[in-house]
Amino acid sequence: MKKKYVVVLGAGVSGIGSAILAKKKGYDVFVSDINKIKKEEKKILINHSINYEECHHSLFNQNNTDFVIKSPGISNQSDLIKKIKSKKINIISEIEFASRYTNSIIIGVTGSNGKTTTTILIYEILKKAGFSVEIAGNIGNSFAKLVADKKFDYCVLELSSFQLDDIVEFSPEYAIITNITKDHLDRYNNNFDDYIKSKLRITINQSNKDYLIFNSDDPSLKKMINSKLTKANLHSFSINDFFSKTQIKDSEIIINTLNKKNMVNTIGFQLIGRHNLLNAMAASTVASLLNISNKKIRDSLVHFKGAPHRMEPVLKIQKVQYINDSKATNVNATYFALESIETSVIWIVGGVDKGNDYSSLLPLVRKKVKGIICLGLDNKKIINVFGPFCENIIETTSIIEAVKIGSKLSSPNETVLLSPSCASFDLFKNYEDRGNKFKSAVRNL
Ligand code: ADP
Repeated sequence: MKKKYVVVLGAGVSGIGSAILAKKKGYDVFVSDINKIKKEEKKILINHSINYEECHHSLFNQNNTDFVIKSPGISNQSDLIKKIKSKKINIISEIEFASRYTNSIIIGVTGSNGKTTTTILIYEILKKAGFSVEIAGNIGNSFAKLVADKKFDYCVLELSSFQLDDIVEFSPEYAIITNITKDHLDRYNNNFDDYIKSKLRITINQSNKDYLIFNSDDPSLKKMINSKLTKANLHSFSINDFFSKTQIKDSEIIINTLNKKNMVNTIGFQLIGRHNLLNAMAASTVASLLNISNKKIRDSLVHFKGAPHRMEPVLKIQKVQYINDSKATNVNATYFALESIETSVIWIVGGVDKGNDYSSLLPLVRKKVKGIICLGLDNKKIINVFGPFCENIIETTSIIEAVKIGSKLSSPNETVLLSPSCASFDLFKNYEDRGNKFKSAVRNL
């Protein structure tokens, strides 16, 4: 019988993983990338006897293609995708493809902010509790590669909206939505509703045996999620909503599941901020639904220091605390950063603005921010919005300079915070590069 011909578009982490899994499952696989494929990736393709093209998408035979696995980085609005769709060739995502080859229980985490932190928290709790568990998705390793290489009972998947756009039957047993705020609207025709709908796709195939765990403090989620949208059991978590199933009372997270009430004491948690409490509540909810004891949940949460570049304490120099929050690439993340800091702040902000509306930050800036250092090529908007409320507002394109200015402007018991609210690629390779350069500048002070 003729092998099915599958084309993988994009030779990044998810594309390579998909190609490996497809080859293993007996498909005739072809990888096509519009850019140059990295040496390492080429080696993997050659080792697996997978054909590929780079710098163009012209060689693959569209008329023979049974289906396409598309990398999340490729927009559905691109000419290539429109052309493939016009030929009625099915396009699916890596997540959809990989999920067809595993029976493991999937815990999927999506949202605008907090995905990585919540995903890691859940993974750590399950691992420490002795589960056979893996972690994959948007966090950086391929779900398809994992399915090709390993056997596991549970998988915690971080899912971006782009990864959810091309699912068909994918259905996690546990779906978590941390929050929805305006981000990536450029990929959704500047339409917030389209972006929300794309996040809600995490639940469209869920059954009444599954759970949808969501943040009911989030107005968009509270409005959109109801029993008409999903068949899953709804489980809300919230700090303010008295009716939510997971809530906080004094220092206890209280989780009401069908047959019991669990309490997890938060005293001694190292993660700071209300946003991280919400992340911990989401993670504790999943763990409780999986019958993990309160003690084990607490043990993991207490030891968790947070992921790098997310409110990461760097050093204290002359009683000034330096914090790296380079992953704050939108306004909402910075909101929680500023909210969680109790001292006066020198705030390093700026980069590539994705259509930011800074107004929600104004009260916090007026209350806490003593100086603003704009670190970007175009800082006009930041200066216009915050200039009238902050005397010290300085521009630079050097992170070393920014840190030096931060140290000059700050006094003992204050904080220098890098929380840019913007993407990094005007001055840096990515947010990790920006965060690492910040940390090294602080260490060299
Ligand atoms: P994501 O994977 O969704 O980008 P991360 O956990 O990597 O989320 O955190 C990204 C940024 O958002 C960091 O600046 C972090 O401090 C902040 N953040 C983390 N959790 C939340 C949350 N629940 N709500 C708002 N901001 C958050």
